[in-house]
Amino acid sequence: MANSTVRVRFAPSPTGLMHIGNIRTALMNFLFAKKKNGTFIVRIEDTDPERNFDPGAQKIIADLEWLGLTFTEGPHVNGPYAPYFQSQRMAIYQEKLNDLIAKKLVYPCFCTQEELDKKRERQIALKRPPRYDGTCLKRSVEEVEKLFDNKTPFIWRMYLNQETTIIINDITHGDIKFELKNFSDFPLTRQNGTFTFMFANFVDDMVMEISHVLRGEDHLTNTAGQAALYQAFGKKLPIFWHLPVICNKTGKKLSKRDFGFSLNDLREAGFLPEALCNYLAITGGGSFKQEIMSLEELAKTMNFDQAHSSGRVKYDIDKLTWINHKWIDRYDPEKLADVCLPYLEKTFDQVKNLDKKQITTLIQTIKTDFEKLPQVVDALRFYFERPTVTLEMIENQLGNDVTEQIKTIIQNNITSINTTDEFIKSIKIESKQQEISLKQTFSFLRLCLMNSINGPSIHDLFEMLGNQEATERIKTVL
Ligand code: GLU
Repeated sequence: MANSTVRVRFAPSPTGLMHIGNIRTALMNFLFAKKKNGTFIVRIEDTDPERNFDPGAQKIIADLEWLGLTFTEGPHVNGPYAPYFQSQRMAIYQEKLNDLIAKKLVYPCFCTQEELDKKRERQIALKRPPRYDGTCLKRSVEEVEKLFDNKTPFIWRMYLNQETTIIINDITHGDIKFELKNFSDFPLTRQNGTFTFMFANFVDDMVMEISHVLRGEDHLTNTAGQAALYQAFGKKLPIFWHLPVICNKTGKKLSKRDFGFSLNDLREAGFLPEALCNYLAITGGGSFKQEIMSLEELAKTMNFDQAHSSGRVKYDIDKLTWINHKWIDRYDPEKLADVCLPYLEKTFDQVKNLDKKQITTLIQTIKTDFEKLPQVVDALRFYFERPTVTLEMIENQLGNDVTEQIKTIIQNNITSINTTDEFIKSIKIESKQQEISLKQTFSFLRLCLMNSINGPSIHDLFEMLGNQEATERIKTVL
């Protein structure tokens, strides 16, 4: 239960699917709240109905659940600041806008999009930073009234005092100074009466008493305008943490075209949620003695007061894959069986004849042999499908002479096999007597049993396949 005043939020817009950038933002908010005994809130920023791709943010909510990022306030769980969908909070934004109108801190802007685009082009051509030129700020009261009377479409713009400098506190960057003369008077509403991201996002942070705003560095310029809004309401600013941009191997901002950008792709590729969170939490966040950590362990270990990483964070799929491999190894055996089962069922009919315990044992035996879930199919193929191996194939791998010697040793023992242990023991002894390395003898057996020189121990292979099947496979090759 939250017992501190730390309140953080993840505020996705349902305009697209979850991707690596917003997974990391959600994760950092979650871990920060956990570490500080605070509250993790989810707020859906669905003020732009035309771009609403995921109605009710159902996909986002399901993805958060899959990732294990549970929230204490938000859609469906609700909380003291409900509703948590911006589309249901219009009255609140209107009320706050009315306050600003009354204080004359905003002004109506009647410029059309076409006019604005033209001005912008001109400014760019003149190599000036494109900014709103204040046309409507200069209008007289009479002029404005006339335009209102004529029902000329307009929006409300925030008035920024050009003389002002605002300082915000950022966990990674320290104090950041914004000189408002470098910013445009920005829109708070759209011509259709809806509210902009800048305004709704700020109002909610203010009224939901968000203490720390953790979001991507790409929002840094928005922070300037929103800090001005806090000042306009005479409210204390939250502390910010602008998370560095994630980039691909070549150093460019990660895009849809890069593999592993969308959560769907990663999930389909067979990454575990624990591995994804683990990877994202430790990437660009300093060094950790022990890298494989659960959410609980991460929350305990991470030191947010010294969060230092700035600049860019390189997305390294190989590292993520390594972490996934480690997670497969440490996963709860039954849970691992559950997540692997769909892949196995799709490929091998015989799976339906096995019970959960048998499947779990099989997967435990080969769990270090695969890095991503779909690879479980190849790791277990030998179990369901007898490999076609010939002596010639083994000779090609191990060499003629030694193959011949090992063949004889195995032949001497395979007929009298009682227990696996006895069999292994006697072939070990005989190999030693004939100065054949055990590795080669075992490779021979492994090739017979599964057509690979890597994999489970010979003992485990016999256990998995059963004595009869294992000896048959060996005899077939011999
Ligand atoms: N809806 C915004 C986004 O998805 C939220 C930004 C923020 O966290 O303030 O980028």
